[in-house]
Amino acid sequence: MIDDALTRHFFTGFIRLHVLYHAAKEPIYGAEITEELVRHGYRLSPGTLYPTLRLLESLGYLRQHTEVVQGRRRKYYQATATGKRVLKEARSKLQELVAEVLEDHDQPFQTIRQKHRQPHSQQRSSVHGKQP
Ligand SMILES: [Zn+2]
Repeated sequence: MIDDALTRHFFTGFIRLHVLYHAAKEPIYGAEITEELVRHGYRLSPGTLYPTLRLLESLGYLRQHTEVVQGRRRKYYQATATGKRVLKEARSKLQELVAEVLEDHDQPFQTIRQKHRQPHSQQRSSVHGKQP
């Protein structure tokens, strides 16, 4: 899965969130979620999703069960209560991120920025007072 900087630094998080979202709606299994992620344009080779599923499982966000489908064992993954809570939290963060990055609502940051860049009169005068 880790094949370039974009994937490594940004998309792995998107993919995890995506998996959690689908698994919170209904049990999912590897092949179908891989196809879904490829549909979204994430470069995933077969089998690379499993480490993600295992990670989410080890964090307690997903649980798995096995079903026999047409004579073959298939592992289904489903979000746990913890996973659903994490998804809810991630959704609100995502909403903020969308508002800022896509809709350019960065007014709160502009306020912070102004506060930090306001000249501190006392500091300034002491700096200017010490002429070499
Ligand atoms: Zn999707």
